[in-house]
Amino acid sequence: MRLVVRRLGRIKLMLVITAISVVMAVALNLIFSFLFETGAPVVQSIVRAAVIPLFIAPLVSWYLLGLLIDLDQLEAKMNKLATYDDLTGLYNRRALFKSCHLLHRLAVRTKETYCVVIVDLDFFKKINDQYGHAAGDQVLKSFGQILKRVTRDCDLAGRMGGEEFCIYLSNTQQAQVEKIISRLKTEIEDNYPVFESTTITYTISLGVAENQNAAELGFEEVLNRADIALYEAKNSGRNRSVSFNSELQR
Ligand code: GH3
Ligand code: MG
Ligand code: MG
Repeated sequence: MRLVVRRLGRIKLMLVITAISVVMAVALNLIFSFLFETGAPVVQSIVRAAVIPLFIAPLVSWYLLGLLIDLDQLEAKMNKLATYDDLTGLYNRRALFKSCHLLHRLAVRTKETYCVVIVDLDFFKKINDQYGHAAGDQVLKSFGQILKRVTRDCDLAGRMGGEEFCIYLSNTQQAQVEKIISRLKTEIEDNYPVFESTTITYTISLGVAENQNAAELGFEEVLNRADIALYEAKNSGRNRSVSFNSELQR
């Protein structure tokens, strides 16, 4: 029904419902006249049967269709809230990981290699402390836009929480990730956000993990490896990317 409302619109659908109501009322009236032989003049009885729904149907259908449209808009709003992060417009954690699991299952079938990158803004707490929370928000917003620009349509980028983001790169080898990271860094340096006429500079640390065999290695483990690599990037001085290897341990 909501699909019909969306297609036809409120006015057209109200007219359709009214027309159907009138036709049905006239038909029922004729059937009753025929069955019970009321003896009333046919034309007069048809006009009476048509006039009542002609007044009632538009009012009732207009109101009910309004409720249906409100419900539709509310559902769309709720879906948006449940899927996207308010501040950056990227996928939120729940939607991101749901889609990552789907892409992982696709990689199991296609046997393609994919990479997961966790990105964390360096010393973000200092930005909040120095310029205020609103400035911190602006940095996150700006970084979110950059992430959207740098990733391809077939990739997924989302906010894991706080100042931590995750990118799922479909059909990508670890060697190709460096190019994307380099583009990401260039975009950051060319687009530092300006808050109340102060340019806020920042850097990022990244942890990269590759999955060459999705049938053997689950998405959670790849994510865990990217996290271990990120931890190493932080520990070895920040503003760098580290790719996971088996020698890395917490
Ligand atoms: P590190 O280089 O080790 O990652 O240090 P950090 O300061 O970036 O990390 P830490 O975990 O110490 O601090 C993260 C800060 O991010 C603390 C928290 O207040 C801030 N934060 C989390 N979410 C938001 C947000 O939505 N907006 C703003 N402005 N700040 C946020
Ligand atoms: Mg940080
Ligand atoms: Mg963090």
